Amino acid sequence: MPHLRFNKLRLTGFKSFVDPTDLIIADGLTGVVGPNGCGKSNLLEALRWVMGENRPTAMRGGGMEDVIFAGAATRPARNFAEVSLILDNSDRLAPSGFNDSDALEVVRRITRDVGSAYKTNGRDVRARDVQMLFADASTGAHSPALVRQGQIAELINAKPKARRRILEEAAGISGLYQRRHEAELK
Ligand code: ATP
Ligand code: MG
Repeated sequence: MPHLRFNKLRLTGFKSFVDPTDLIIADGLTGVVGPNGCGKSNLLEALRWVMGENRPTAMRGGGMEDVIFAGAATRPARNFAEVSLILDNSDRLAPSGFNDSDALEVVRRITRDVGSAYKTNGRDVRARDVQMLFADASTGAHSPALVRQGQIAELINAKPKARRRILEEAAGISGLYQRRHEAELK
């Protein structure tokens, strides 16, 4: 299944990235190296978050607002966190509705006491639209392409049902699964 390529991730006020920070994502395998606590895991969490991750535990927090920069000795806390992900859509691989330009920008912003809002190419969209976009592109917040610290050990120890879900993501059918689940709820 073809994949939409990640081009750039921009973090503003997200966890330890208080000032706007760009991560250029080149072709092929991307590695992030740095000393303990410099924010490597926070970068991966930003990528999951902008794709619609809604479990605070997946962000190592107690609540969703914990992703907002909480302040440091010399810097006050922020009121919002924003992550922008720019995808290469020059091959027009994005689903219809997202397919009108060479670049597809997905932005998620969370504001204290307000919650999350999403935009694609500047237009307001629902969380679900963004989640489905990435589920169909088989990248997704739960994608097996993003390997969290400690996840290899979890995969080895996983129960068969949990392992099956991971394989379904890899096979690109989890978007179908989500739609079927929604149909069953109606
Ligand atoms: P390791 O090599 O130990 O895995 P890492 O590079 O993955 O480290 P992270 O876990 O990404 O590091 O970053 C941890 C840092 O992010 C800590 O210093 C923590 O205080 C900071 N941090 C997390 N959430 C926030 C927040 N909401 N506001 C400010 N700083 C935060
Ligand atoms: Mg880490």
